[in-house]
Amino acid sequence: MRILIVEDSDKLRGALVATLQNAGHAVDAVGDGRRAVIHLRTSDYDAAVLDVGLPVLDGMEVLREVRRHSVRTAVLVLSARDTVADRVAGLRAGADDYLIKPFAMEELVARVEAMIRRRHQQASARIVVGDLMIDTDARQVTRAGAPIDLTKREFAILVCLALRAGKMTSRAAIEEAIYDQSTQVQSNAVDSAISHLRAKLNAGGRPEIIHTKRGVGYVLSQTAPALNT
Ligand code: CA
Repeated sequence: MRILIVEDSDKLRGALVATLQNAGHAVDAVGDGRRAVIHLRTSDYDAAVLDVGLPVLDGMEVLREVRRHSVRTAVLVLSARDTVADRVAGLRAGADDYLIKPFAMEELVARVEAMIRRRHQQASARIVVGDLMIDTDARQVTRAGAPIDLTKREFAILVCLALRAGKMTSRAAIEEAIYDQSTQVQSNAVDSAISHLRAKLNAGGRPEIIHTKRGVGYVLSQTAPALNT
């Protein structure tokens, strides 16, 4: 998933980027509120981690500004403050979740991923499509009970498709979800990753589960989607 980190402390920002990249996400990071607004309004992020105390515009102002412009990105607010009034103000300004500093990185990752699932109306960390099971917490994939070993990129693409199972996902949407801004995307990178992913998912003669609509995108579905959809 594609995540924006907004934090003015270089040290914490670096740690957040490393942790979320390690968890397989595409991560961009900025250190002030104005750049945060620009990033959130011009790119489609699945989630943002937003510090409250920021130079130029503070986190609450960023949140109000982007919500006013209908940015739907799930936002987790980081705050040093620990009062009920501050938390309520954050949630009223459009935050999806709230974490008080200092926090454990493991908890941050779990909360960010839970927030993304809620955005896709996915209550559980387990996504099941036919005989395919994806555990987004444990990062495990099985097909007909047999474990499948995927690279971080293949796993990220599969989750991206699985969150929209049965619906078309465009190649551009997959690129947005798995690449950060500093990555130069080769034109065939997604197609090539999907072909590797397919080979692994279809091992042992399992039927096709990732369907291609030429020039449009991909659908993860147990059965081939109708041609007129
Ligand atoms: Ca700060």
